[in-house]
Amino acid sequence: MLSADQLLDALLERAHGVTETETVALAQALGRVLAAPQTSAITVPPMDNSAMDGYAVRVADVTVAGVRLPVSQRILAGTVGQPLRPGSAARIFTGAPVPPGADAVLMQEYCEATGEDVVINVMPHPGENIRRAGEDIQTGAQILAAGTRIGAAEMGLAASVGLAELPVFRKLKVACFFTGDELVTPGTPLQSGQIYNSNRYTLSGLVNGLGCELIDLGIVPDTLEATEVALARASREADVVITSGGVSVGEADYVKAAVEKLGRVEMWKVAMKPGKPLVYGRVNDTDFIGLPGNPVSAFVTFGLFVRPFLLKRMGAADVLYRAFAVQADFAWTRAGARREFLRAQLQPNGKLALFPNQSSGVLTSCAWSDGLVDLGVGQTVQPGDWVRFIPLSELLA
Ligand code: AMP
Ligand code: MG
Repeated sequence: MLSADQLLDALLERAHGVTETETVALAQALGRVLAAPQTSAITVPPMDNSAMDGYAVRVADVTVAGVRLPVSQRILAGTVGQPLRPGSAARIFTGAPVPPGADAVLMQEYCEATGEDVVINVMPHPGENIRRAGEDIQTGAQILAAGTRIGAAEMGLAASVGLAELPVFRKLKVACFFTGDELVTPGTPLQSGQIYNSNRYTLSGLVNGLGCELIDLGIVPDTLEATEVALARASREADVVITSGGVSVGEADYVKAAVEKLGRVEMWKVAMKPGKPLVYGRVNDTDFIGLPGNPVSAFVTFGLFVRPFLLKRMGAADVLYRAFAVQADFAWTRAGARREFLRAQLQPNGKLALFPNQSSGVLTSCAWSDGLVDLGVGQTVQPGDWVRFIPLSELLA
């Protein structure tokens, strides 16, 4: 059996990024992966500008607090003032260019307007409240590296240098199907023996959240024939096929057999809890990942293995989750024979509480948790111990 680290390494070794690119309008770029580095053709901000509503002055003119200066001009954002006359102040607003000659802006709360004049009640420091040209971005600087996933901040950053479109990798196509004769789609009442196909919604959310194109092939019955048909279609249509269920050693588990028949299985089983049964294989040029059916196992193994794998296939540079040391507010005395990932919540005291039921069927634990406590083989925990914690935010999107 592979360790979780071995499985992740082996998956990443096999994950080749898509090479086809397209150009999209900036507004359509959210969630895409940048295919080429982007540099700025401009300086941001383009000119020294005021960080406050107030008065621009020459520091040398304010010899003492309480000095009175005539207000020689008003400079609004979007306008350009005249050079500041010595011995005068300029009324100025946030984002407006600081006029040549001024070397400080006093916030208006420190000033008193009296008729045509202003009384400066506080001594200014040189450079105070001036945002310098280029303090964010210099002309020619790289603002985004190839392989960057474009989120809200990256969209804004690209816009701040005037980029109207971006080159991105094509979307990765991910086909999913869900094995199990017991599965029913919400909207249909349950007959005895049936359960709802929750993995469809969890995995759809995860795949869509990464920015992949989802091909949802729905529920597949527990027969070798049906599994083969679904697998053949999925592997024709997608870059990566992800399934849930049917990968254990039960008599109704046909997924591994179907992959072996149409392609080859390269890895099976990972030494961890939850999530031991997991299959990686290939069918022609398509990657296959079979996740366990248990809803918590599917969720956790997706975050730990499938997410980094898909990100690398999507062309993303940064694919690994980060873990942090956080103090436990719980005890864990059942030393496990396998590495174990426990659903935990960050409490207001900054420490971690555990969900009381850590069963791999209890999906409530995933919705409740903020992340996973990563316990090594044989590791026990006392309250106050520092443990390895992987926030869900590192595993989901
Ligand atoms: P399996 O891996 O097929 O043996 O399934 C393990 C457990 O997960 C069983 O209790 C199944 O009923 C359950 N399960 C399998 N697929 C799903 C699904 N799509 N949604 C919810 N539970 C599932
Ligand atoms: Mg099953």
